[in-house]
Amino acid sequence: KKESIDEVIERLQSSYSDIVPENISSFNDFPLSLNTQKGLRENDYTEPTDIQKQSIGYALQGNDILGAAKTGSGKTLAFLIPVLEVLFCKKWTTLDGLGALIITPTRELAYQIFETLRKVGRYHDFSAGLIIGGKDLHFEKKRMDQCNIVICTPGRLLHHMDENPLFDCVNLQILVLDEADNCLNMGFEETMNSIIANLPPNRQTLLFSATQTKSIRDLARLSLTNPKYLSVHENA
Ligand code: ADP
Ligand code: MG
Repeated sequence: KKESIDEVIERLQSSYSDIVPENISSFNDFPLSLNTQKGLRENDYTEPTDIQKQSIGYALQGNDILGAAKTGSGKTLAFLIPVLEVLFCKKWTTLDGLGALIITPTRELAYQIFETLRKVGRYHDFSAGLIIGGKDLHFEKKRMDQCNIVICTPGRLLHHMDENPLFDCVNLQILVLDEADNCLNMGFEETMNSIIANLPPNRQTLLFSATQTKSIRDLARLSLTNPKYLSVHENA
């Protein structure tokens, strides 16, 4: 008998507690949906990087994460894989609205994340959108309520929160703060604080930053609950 979708989800979730980062050598060692596995395989992602090995298990287990890893270490998949799996396991549909929000400091980074999501998330049914400066605001406003995953820059997101009546984040499950140190360095500290204050508190948050400063610790205190601290130093 073919496994039902509920049985698949149950099987995946019951394996999360068995994940041991040191024992991971391939993406197949994580209990991931076939949709994600196929997206990874087709794009030749076979072995996770250190930050991916360290963080994906904790994120799947539902923990908040404060991850330190430098540029090029593979942080995008470290958060996109949990985002896809969280929404998959909740059987998220278009009707459920915004489930995941990814905040990154620049448009270029937002585009890169969007492209990676399009490739790796190809076999899922989630809708994704970009909220970044320089695009047609009216178009964005109308489409916003149809997005399950939104990738955005801080200023433009806050603008939507303040002015777009269709922006609704009450169902938000998972928040990603990518390159949080650069968000703060670019003068978005107040904006980030306002955004976080507007989001539902019962969500999971993954915060990534290359550096650990006082302002990052302040942001972490505001946005994270009992976080796992992960720090990856590549030897190469
Ligand atoms: P970061 O956000 O930490 O700067 P990225 O997520 O942008 O890093 O990844 C850097 C590069 O490494 C990208 O070209 C990405 O496609 C590649 N990459 C990421 N994870 C893997 C992996 N597990 N296997 C092979 N290449 C990877
Ligand atoms: Mg990155």
